[in-house]
Amino acid sequence: MDNMDSNGNVVGRFAPSPSGRMHLGNVFTALISWLSVRSRGGKWVLRIEDLDPQRSRQEYARQIEDDLRWLGLDWDEGGIDNMGDNGPYMQSRRDSFYLDALGRLNDLRLTYRCHCTRADIMATQAPHESDGRVVYHGTCRPCAEPPFDSHSDGSGATRLYVPDEDFVFTDRVFGEHSVNLTRHCGDFVVRRADGAWAYQLAVVVDDALMGVTEVVRGCDLLLSTAQQLYLYRLLGYEAPRFAHLPLVSNAAGQRLSKRDQSMSMDALRQKYSPEELIGKIASMAHIIDRYEPCTAKSLIGVFDWHNVPAKESIII
Ligand code: GLU
Repeated sequence: MDNMDSNGNVVGRFAPSPSGRMHLGNVFTALISWLSVRSRGGKWVLRIEDLDPQRSRQEYARQIEDDLRWLGLDWDEGGIDNMGDNGPYMQSRRDSFYLDALGRLNDLRLTYRCHCTRADIMATQAPHESDGRVVYHGTCRPCAEPPFDSHSDGSGATRLYVPDEDFVFTDRVFGEHSVNLTRHCGDFVVRRADGAWAYQLAVVVDDALMGVTEVVRGCDLLLSTAQQLYLYRLLGYEAPRFAHLPLVSNAAGQRLSKRDQSMSMDALRQKYSPEELIGKIASMAHIIDRYEPCTAKSLIGVFDWHNVPAKESIII
C-alpha cells in the first residue's frame, strides 16, 4: 500500500497541534521528517492541526513557526500564511474538504449516528480487552452489516463501520504490522457530536489533498495507521509511506508532555543555541555518533533512516 518515493517527488509534512509550546519530542519528529525530505530533494509542508477549538491558539502556532525558524527547519508550503497551492494549511479552515469526504462515506452507507456517552462505551469494555484502548462494540449500529440507512436523526457523533479485517502495512522504522480494526478500535468516530472533525478523517483528507507521500510522526500513532489506511481506501486516495519514531521520554521513563517544562522550547532556547540543540537531538537519534554542535543543514548529507532506532522510547 505504500507510495513509492523513488521518483524524487517526496513530500513530507510536519503537523503540530498548536495547543502549547513544542517540546523536545516534537522537535525530534520535525527534524527527522525535515531531514528525510531534504536528503532526497523533496518538499516539506507545515500543517497546523488546530481541530480542537478549545485547546488550539493562533499564538501557539506562531511560536511553533518561530521555533522551527530558530532551529533552521524551513518549509516549502503551509503555515499560518498559507504559502502554497494546497491550502488552507490550518485545519480550522478546511471544513469544506472534510464535509466532502464525510458525504462520500455517507454515500457508501457505512456511517451511522451514535449517541453513546463515554460512560456507556466504558460499560461495554471487557477487562484487559485492549490495554486501556477504548473499543466500540457497535451499540448504536443500526444493523449488523452495512449498508446503513441514511441518517434521519441529525444529532450525535458520526461513526464509520469497520470490517473484521486485518490491515497489513510496513512501517519504515518498525517494520510489518497487522491490525484488525474490529479488535483495535471498532467503528470509529469521524465527526464528533459537537461538530468537530475527528483527527483520523482530517489527517487522511489533508495528507491526500496536500500530496504527502511520507508521514513521519511519533509511534503513539503507529496503530492508528490502520484506521487511516482504511479511510484512504474508502476515499480512493493513494496512501503515503509511514515512518513512526520512538517517543522521547524523561529521565523517569515517561513520555514528554507539555508538563515537562524543562523540555519545552521556551526553556530549551534559553539554555542552548540552535546548533547545540540540533546536535543533542542528532546524537540522541543516532544521526551522528557523538554529540557536537551542528546545524540542521549540515546533517542532510549524513542522515540515514537505517540509523533511526526501532524503539518505543528514547530517554534524554
Ligand atoms: N497533530 C498531531 C500531533 O501534534 C500529529 C498527527 C500526525 O502527525 O499524524 O500529535
